[in-house]
Amino acid sequence: MRATPAVERVLRRVDTSEADACWIWPGATTPDGRYGVVGVADRRTRLTHLVTYEAATGSAIADGWQADHLCLVTLCCNPRHLEAVTQAENLRRQHELNTHCVRGHEFTPENTYQVPTQPTNRQCRACMQLRSKARHDPEARAELAKTRLQPDVGRLRRGNRHLLDQPKTEATP
Ligand SMILES: [Zn+2]
Ligand SMILES: [Zn+2]
Repeated sequence: MRATPAVERVLRRVDTSEADACWIWPGATTPDGRYGVVGVADRRTRLTHLVTYEAATGSAIADGWQADHLCLVTLCCNPRHLEAVTQAENLRRQHELNTHCVRGHEFTPENTYQVPTQPTNRQCRACMQLRSKARHDPEARAELAKTRLQPDVGRLRRGNRHLLDQPKTEATP
């Protein structure tokens, strides 16, 4: 009897109904709670976002490379939100994000909202304003859409696109 491939077990448990949304892993995580883990052979575990990324691209992440979450949601397993980068580049991006939000606004004391109950949750006030404006202002909506999230879908193998498009039923003309 063959075990169900890890990628299938991951995709079964995340909500993939929206192709471009974050696919949040609801199961076990690394001890720091940041990344999802799934059991594989020999009682080992693998990071869930690596499993889906490698299945979608059809190749393993090389040594010294990491899959960077462009969406900044580390529990997200949507391969569209991941980009393979070197460790150095990942660190550089993390450093940049310590000083600027995902849309490039600087985290000055005036522009930073510290969520009271969540010490690690810091919000950009400029983006908060954009979000409330976006409800009735198309320009604000366009501005809001400009994150560093640029899904690298072109690299995904044609044969594995189904991993992305899986439950999405696209209206065909
Ligand atoms: Zn995501
Ligand atoms: Zn911002």
